[in-house]
Amino acid sequence: MRWKCKFKKQDNLLIENHLALYPHSLDINKVVRDDLDKCVAFLPYCAKPLGEHECPTSDKVNNRKNQKCIKVSGGKCDVPCSLGEMVDVLVKHGFKKDQIFIIDRDSNLFPWLQQKRKEGYEYFMPGTGCKYGVSYAIDYIGKKLGYKGCIAFVDDYCSQDKDNGVCKCMNDYLGMEGIDKGKRTKMHKETIILMDRILSGNYHNMVDVPHKSPNTNENPSST
Ligand code: SF4
Repeated sequence: MRWKCKFKKQDNLLIENHLALYPHSLDINKVVRDDLDKCVAFLPYCAKPLGEHECPTSDKVNNRKNQKCIKVSGGKCDVPCSLGEMVDVLVKHGFKKDQIFIIDRDSNLFPWLQQKRKEGYEYFMPGTGCKYGVSYAIDYIGKKLGYKGCIAFVDDYCSQDKDNGVCKCMNDYLGMEGIDKGKRTKMHKETIILMDRILSGNYHNMVDVPHKSPNTNENPSST
């Protein structure tokens, strides 16, 4: 993962707030300025709320594992949800429903990305996942399909809840492809704030952005 994203060459402000560029040399301001209409975003179902709060699109059979989000469909949802907050940011910056994909499984995401590439989309902004998901996907999304973009990493919803946090190994991750195993992840507030700034074209002027996500036990650079 570390070498795929060249973490050593990444901006520390991005890394500390769970974001990385792919490739590391990507001129993100240029993308935002010239090509925002060529961007898609994907966000994982495991960042939908569970337990304390429940995603209204969950059902008894597949739980959270579907491509639905009320906000992506243009509706209102008041359930506290980091995925929904990221959707708010994307919609605010002009992303349309067909530019946002809630990943229920990689086997659905990859054909969608292939189709979007044929339609002329070139960037993921952001592509979101745990370090295992991103590591697994980047070869296909980056190398095979030729996408570039910004990666947002999910973290544990609660760092004390060791049993239900982000996937701890590749098998864990592949198990999530089959069923919703109840893992509770989230995007940090700082990640979302920073993504908002990036999409505003202000990547180099972020002096007031907090420099470190709190309660972090999953730094993407640790693998
Ligand atoms: S914002 Fe979307 S994903 Fe989050 S709880 Fe609401 S419907 Fe579910």
